[in-house]
Amino acid sequence: MNLLWRLACLLGFHRRDRKRLWQVGSRHHSVCAGCGKQMVRGFSEWRLDEDAAGQS
Ligand SMILES: [Zn+2]
Repeated sequence: MNLLWRLACLLGFHRRDRKRLWQVGSRHHSVCAGCGKQMVRGFSEWRLDEDAAGQS
């Protein structure tokens, strides 16, 4: 767990973990390397996966 990444997360800048990348259908999923939240690839950028929000 990288402290700088955690700080970035608090500011809304999440970094996906390249080692944890998987694909479901045509959607690419990953997790934030800082806070572990699930992320999903949008049209042009990665964002938090709101569908997975609230799950732990
Ligand atoms: Zn994060």
